[in-house]
Amino acid sequence: MSKIIIAGAGIGGLGVAAELAKKGHDVTVYEKGTYSSLAYDWHDDMEEQVYDGGLLEKPDPSIYFKKRPWAFVSPFSVATTLVRQPEPDLDLSTRRTEFSQFLADRAIKAGAKIVYGVAVQAPIIKDGKLVGIKTDKGDFTADLIIDCLGAYSAIRTQVPAAWGIQNAVNEDEMFYVWRGFFDRKEGVPGDADGLTNKVYLKHLGNVGISWCIDDGHEVDILAGLVGGNTQEHVDTVIAELKKEHPFIGDKIVRAGGFYRIPVRRPLTLMVADNYAVIGDAAFMTIPLLGSGLASGIYASRILADAIENANGDYTAAKLYPYQVAVYKKFGAVHAGVDYIKNWLLNTECDRINKVMNSGLIAEKDLIKVSKGRMLFIPIGELLGKAAKGIKMPGILLELNDMLMKHHKAYKLGLKVPETYDLAVNAKWAAKLNNVFKK
Ligand SMILES: Cc1cc2nc3c(=O)[nH]c(=O)nc-3n(C[C@H](O)[C@H](O)[C@H](O)COP(=O)(O)OP(=O)(O)OC[C@H]3O[C@@H](n4cnc5c(N)ncnc54)[C@H](O)[C@@H]3O)c2cc1C
Repeated sequence: MSKIIIAGAGIGGLGVAAELAKKGHDVTVYEKGTYSSLAYDWHDDMEEQVYDGGLLEKPDPSIYFKKRPWAFVSPFSVATTLVRQPEPDLDLSTRRTEFSQFLADRAIKAGAKIVYGVAVQAPIIKDGKLVGIKTDKGDFTADLIIDCLGAYSAIRTQVPAAWGIQNAVNEDEMFYVWRGFFDRKEGVPGDADGLTNKVYLKHLGNVGISWCIDDGHEVDILAGLVGGNTQEHVDTVIAELKKEHPFIGDKIVRAGGFYRIPVRRPLTLMVADNYAVIGDAAFMTIPLLGSGLASGIYASRILADAIENANGDYTAAKLYPYQVAVYKKFGAVHAGVDYIKNWLLNTECDRINKVMNSGLIAEKDLIKVSKGRMLFIPIGELLGKAAKGIKMPGILLELNDMLMKHHKAYKLGLKVPETYDLAVNAKWAAKLNNVFKK
């Protein structure tokens, strides 16, 4: 039996706490918040497949429902494409606080302890190895520490550079969003096109997205920019959305604040001696969407298996199979999708409009993009698209270059070194990161 600390009651951390406690380990989760305020007071989307294969039992159905399809609106509302996902592929909109509470209850039932109201401040390192955590309630030591503290983790940002783990990422790899729920004006009909969930790509020409979701009772509004956001931007977005959707009321009934979401490929190294990083702390969200729930859950099982196989010897080399399996399960795809995200954010608005209007990127492609999957466009189809692109050869070349780099990043992701070797890992990471150099 090992003594294991999970720092942060995030999704992956709570998942791994349950798995490890079930196997008889002494597991303690330290969380700065409270049980009643875990996660967020809203619904987020998560693919239903997380419940397949016995990974996780389904929570009470009262906390989720099948989400309605997205409609993507191109910059300056030139084109709107509805993404009609097949029914089984529609995500489950899941109440976040209740879902985290479900995971916390499950971890407790398995034998884990969760201590609330403890803020982790720093790693404790002895003889070059992680041995514990410094918190506002004192120091705690363990055989293994799992970091689930989110993108700005107080542990990961302070571990020595020599461990090869990236402390910080570029600001333009973080999505700064404002999200708030407005009351809905009574008797005012919804949009005439019947589309309720609209995502505005590069809304008003900015590097980011906005959304407006009308559930008939409340209106969920998000105004997001990559790299930084301002109240002025949020006010402009809300004013514009109100003009377009007169049903949006004046009162914010829930949330109404700024949040940060990682939108990049995962860390190229997520383990060190006695240390593993999971969830947003390891940048496991789908880069284009900022969705991290499903990957956190998949990663929790992968990490629990790697820990079991390590058999009490928690060296980086023994924990490393976790990172390999993560890259094979979803990390390589996320690396590919990261490239599409960069292209969408950096290309001119006019080009996105033309691409969406001409069908160069069609609904079925957007379905894949909206699920964070790879775009494989068969040769015949590409030629067909080329015919459409003849009037805009520059765009076609740009699209082709984007698709090639999207695949290159994916393939490099799959080539994650099979065994732990810092020098080999650094070489691989450099190759992968090079695809993203501007
Ligand atoms: C507006 C918004 C919309 C989103 N929509 C979706 C969506 O639709 N689908 C989806 O899959 N994902 C979505 N996400 C992302 C999703 O919320 C995260 O990917 C998910 O929460 C997993 O992150 P995590 O649990 O690893 O980290 P976090 O959610 O950041 O959790 C970290 C935990 O650690 C705790 N903590 C942090 N610092 C300390 C400290 N110093 N000491 C102690 N405890 C600490 C925090 O209180 C928290 O409980 C969205 C995020 C936002 C902000």
